[in-house]
Amino acid sequence: MNAQNAQAGPSTPLRRPAQTIPAPEEMPSGFLKWRSGLAQFTGLGLSEAEKQEREEAKANDTLAKDWDRCEKYKRELMKDSPMVTFMMKHLELAGCPFPADAIQCHPCPEWSAGGFSAEFGVLLCQNRMLSKKHVEDTLAHEMLHAFDHCRFKVDWNNLRHHACSEVRAANLSGDCRWTREVGRGFYTFNKQHQACVKRRAVLSVLANPACAGKEQAEQAVNEVFDSCFKDTRPFDEIY
Ligand SMILES: [Zn+2]
Repeated sequence: MNAQNAQAGPSTPLRRPAQTIPAPEEMPSGFLKWRSGLAQFTGLGLSEAEKQEREEAKANDTLAKDWDRCEKYKRELMKDSPMVTFMMKHLELAGCPFPADAIQCHPCPEWSAGGFSAEFGVLLCQNRMLSKKHVEDTLAHEMLHAFDHCRFKVDWNNLRHHACSEVRAANLSGDCRWTREVGRGFYTFNKQHQACVKRRAVLSVLANPACAGKEQAEQAVNEVFDSCFKDTRPFDEIY
């Protein structure tokens, strides 16, 4: 995910009327209202203090809206998403039940969609969520890490351990548009899918502070790829 959201805003300047603009006291109140509304919208005609206030109000409004949307999606997905409920069930079976507050929405300063921490649980980057589907994919991915942490006592500073969990998370979540029919037992894996899983796993391992660079990340992923790609737990424990 690296689509940049284009800043919305008027692209063409408003055409000025031909006649001279009357002094404010001569203007009809409707016009004044329109003009101040326009100033709020475009930022034109505001003092520095007003501009700053407007930016802060906008930022707070965005924060609140992002958080509401992220929390709403999270709660809906924990109830209705086959993928998320499946992962919750298996986390519980593995001895690590996952309450709603172990999944937290927060704004993220850097480019990232989410994260998993053994201490805090799953992070959803509320300002990076493109859609409900995206939240679902991100949750599935991070819950796979939580599952691995619960079942296999992963040492996240060990790049091979980390790489293995990233391969599984990219493979089994919707990251690479894996066919989502959990429970059917028919999965079609192809070369493109494998390449996608590998590429995403390398990027994630690269973000590990213990990783020295791309070469080391690629090496760790290559070393574990075959066995970890084949390891589809908990999806093969359905029957
Ligand atoms: Zn990951």
